Amino acid sequence: MIQTVRGTRDILPEDMALWHRIEDVAREAFRRYGFSEIRTPIFEKTELFSRGVGEASDIVNKEMYTFIDRGREDREGESLTLRPENTASVVRSYIQHKMFADKSPGEVTKLYYAGPMFRRERPQAGRYRQFYQIGAEVLGASDDPAIEAESIEMLDWFLKELKIANTRLMINSVGEPAMRVEYLEKLREALKPHLADLCEDCNQRYETNALRVFDCKNEKCRSIIADMPTINDYLDQASREHFEQFRAHLDARGVEYIVNPRMVRGLDYYTRTAFEILGSDGLGAQNTLVGGGRYDKLSETLGGPPAKGFGFAFGLDRMVLSLSESEAAALRLADSPDVYIVFMGSTARSKSFLIARDLRLAGLSVLVEFEERKMKKAMAQASRSRCRYALIIGDDEVASERYGLKNLSTGEQESLGIGEIIGRLKIQQ
Ligand code: AMP
Repeated sequence: MIQTVRGTRDILPEDMALWHRIEDVAREAFRRYGFSEIRTPIFEKTELFSRGVGEASDIVNKEMYTFIDRGREDREGESLTLRPENTASVVRSYIQHKMFADKSPGEVTKLYYAGPMFRRERPQAGRYRQFYQIGAEVLGASDDPAIEAESIEMLDWFLKELKIANTRLMINSVGEPAMRVEYLEKLREALKPHLADLCEDCNQRYETNALRVFDCKNEKCRSIIADMPTINDYLDQASREHFEQFRAHLDARGVEYIVNPRMVRGLDYYTRTAFEILGSDGLGAQNTLVGGGRYDKLSETLGGPPAKGFGFAFGLDRMVLSLSESEAAALRLADSPDVYIVFMGSTARSKSFLIARDLRLAGLSVLVEFEERKMKKAMAQASRSRCRYALIIGDDEVASERYGLKNLSTGEQESLGIGEIIGRLKIQQ
């Protein structure tokens, strides 16, 4: 038997209501905050990510699905990559389509996206090799920290609307690239005497991207790293002021946060503001629901004009896992069809198809049997279908044009005409 590839999975029909609910609430949030949707290709030139996300990042180093496309007689095939994230693609599109043209200085372009991303990470609960993100980007000439605060306020609304509780917002400033060079030197100096006690991964990080040691989950490493200098002590004046203003904007909106000077994100393009929203402990190790930050140099890195940017992405997979059991149960219930039609005899069978059509024309969701079976079996099937009602049609019902409508949760049954049935079911919808 052929099965799904490691780290990928089928999202099955019984979970779809949860996915749709999250997507719907996200779209509503984006509508209210003036974001427009953009869809970029699932694969891009490898260079977009190696330049955009950064050669030193784990994503580019180890996790990309890269392949050489078939060439033509006169040309070698080019290197393509399944997108590991979507910010680089959105900024590419912003540049390619000159979305910055005809904009006044303070005007920003607000875009959002939803779709699958691909990273060759070690699969575990909440971490997949094909996963789904919904994200947003604010691009333009302005780097006002109110931009960050507005997006976070939107996320706050989104999480409340989905009744996802016990989340924590972590914020930090990772400063400007120039000061980061100086800080990295200091960090490496401080790490050097401890290399023998740090894990193999941290030794590797020391060589390639020392900031990432702060992500290590190893207990021994963590106790050493707790004493390391943090980036905040090296922030330039402008980044410091930006961070203070950002905090003031959050305070004014009543959004709670924790300043975490050791939070560094896995993508190299961030400047100044970085943030994460952590989910409840029930999610286990993979509890980062949302990640984002400012990336004021990315457009130029990708060959575009100077443009400031801020964005975030959340994992749909983890958001689904974060829905409470009661919320998930209510969503599944609301997703079930309205009525299941059960018939007895060939005249009733033909009639049931026409009644099903009329109910559907009236906007109801209807399941109808195709094979005749014993009443008891048919009713058991109706219950399993999670429909709220069964409609029972036999010869007598066809003759009298009054049909048995049974409420499958209470067991109550009434004999009603089609108009009454439609009215009853529509109220219940
Ligand atoms: P990032 O693009 O790394 O900043 O991640 C943003 C969000 O995407 C994370 O907070 C997760 O919710 C989600 N995410 C990232 N990688 C994975 C993965 N491998 N599997 C599932 N969700 C992921």
